Amino acid sequence: MNPLSQVITKTGYGYRLRNGATISHLLYMDDIKLYAKSERDIDSLIHTTRIDSSDIGMSFGLEKCSRMVTKRGRVVRTEGVSLPEGTIADIEDSYKYLGIPQANGNLELATRKAATAKYLQRVRQVLRSQLNGKNKTRAINSYALPVIRYPAGIIRWPKEEIQTTDVKTRKLLTMHGGFHPKSSTLRLYASRKDGGRGLVSVRATVQDETSKLHEYIKEKAPTDDVLRECLRQWGTEDEALEEGPSWEDKPLHGMYHRTITEVADLKKSYQWLERAGLQDSTEALILAAQEQALSTRAIEAQIYHTRQDPRCRLCKEAPETIQHITAGCKMLAGKAYMERHNQVAGIVYRNICAEYGLETPRSKWETPPKVVENDRAKILWDFQIQTDKMVMANQPDIMIIDKGQRKAVVVDVAVPSDGNIRKKEHEKLEKYQGLREELERAWKVKVTVVPVVVGALGAVTPKLDEWLQQIPGTTSDISVQKCAVLGTARILRRTLKLPGLW
Ligand SMILES: [Zn+2]
Repeated sequence: MNPLSQVITKTGYGYRLRNGATISHLLYMDDIKLYAKSERDIDSLIHTTRIDSSDIGMSFGLEKCSRMVTKRGRVVRTEGVSLPEGTIADIEDSYKYLGIPQANGNLELATRKAATAKYLQRVRQVLRSQLNGKNKTRAINSYALPVIRYPAGIIRWPKEEIQTTDVKTRKLLTMHGGFHPKSSTLRLYASRKDGGRGLVSVRATVQDETSKLHEYIKEKAPTDDVLRECLRQWGTEDEALEEGPSWEDKPLHGMYHRTITEVADLKKSYQWLERAGLQDSTEALILAAQEQALSTRAIEAQIYHTRQDPRCRLCKEAPETIQHITAGCKMLAGKAYMERHNQVAGIVYRNICAEYGLETPRSKWETPPKVVENDRAKILWDFQIQTDKMVMANQPDIMIIDKGQRKAVVVDVAVPSDGNIRKKEHEKLEKYQGLREELERAWKVKVTVVPVVVGALGAVTPKLDEWLQQIPGTTSDISVQKCAVLGTARILRRTLKLPGLW
């Protein structure tokens, strides 16, 4: 198509811009738009284009072509242009070039409305899908937002309209259970590796596209007359992205983040957002719990002042905080916490069995047998170990005796409140030192004590991976973290009576 462009330029026809530049045509792939200063000139350009096209084996799709004549800014109706193949008719009221409606009038509003409607329709389509939370955000970012991005750099987009569309997006997320209404908006738009949900806003999209296009035009303007005129019309308004507050600094929304900053590996603590593949409703629930956005009785009494008594609905003792429900209520300890704990320990247990070729429990809900054994190893589950001397603790969650290597590993699992993970790790380690010494003395084997600790809302210490590597078999940190977080989501839904949504 490039020779065609050169032929058209050589004719000298075209429309003169204010700065003296002449524009004769716009060409993109097989989509061409011709300009000239008179009807006679434009017809000549059309004929030139037609002849040149047929020379390279291309022909006009006449029904896709049209012509518009204006005199002093007003559209003039004509008979169209006659060609051997037929007639190119006049434009009715507007036409699209590269998919964007244009003509003499102001078509920007219509373009924005159409793009916004299509964007929201795609958002709904994504939210109704079976995709997991992370993939839903990716789909909105890469399938819905481009509908807005495409025309965003070319037409003006008022701030109010952008904001309204972002609010509508969040409402749709909430309606579909993917965003808690009191959850942090800033965090929704933060990247997943930083603990956010990774959604891109319409605001950021329009701003990014506009500034990138502006930059391009500025760069090319010195060597391109048409772009120089374009830059002049654009003006100097170049909005800088103002740095807003961050969610981590907010009193309630950032409280959890600040608490775990001191005890946890932040990147690893949030990696379930990137790697666990959870439903968006579960992601939203756990983040809302981290942000103090869920209505517990303590929050209702102390923050919203809609309740007198902040105490727990189950034990009626401590204030009903998220921390209390997820890891501190004695009414949940026996069953709910135990169930979550056993699920996490069960993952480690099954991986150990697989390593030694031992039969693994079929379902993850099945309690493992107290003892399984073959010629390579013996695995104890929640087994009380007899020792000559009294020791502080003698019933770890899992104990592995590797017969070939003459070593034993004592594993104990805990899912404490996230702020306590480091302390808990120490505690577990200390607690089994007596047992370790006794076993090493009596059995003459090397004994290692391994704590596996994951916070109820996913926080992990920098050492978790190291600990897991000391256990026979392969257990990934993400698998135990995902299991703990899912267990907590179940506890929250049941206790706060959340039937899936809010
Ligand atoms: Zn309680």
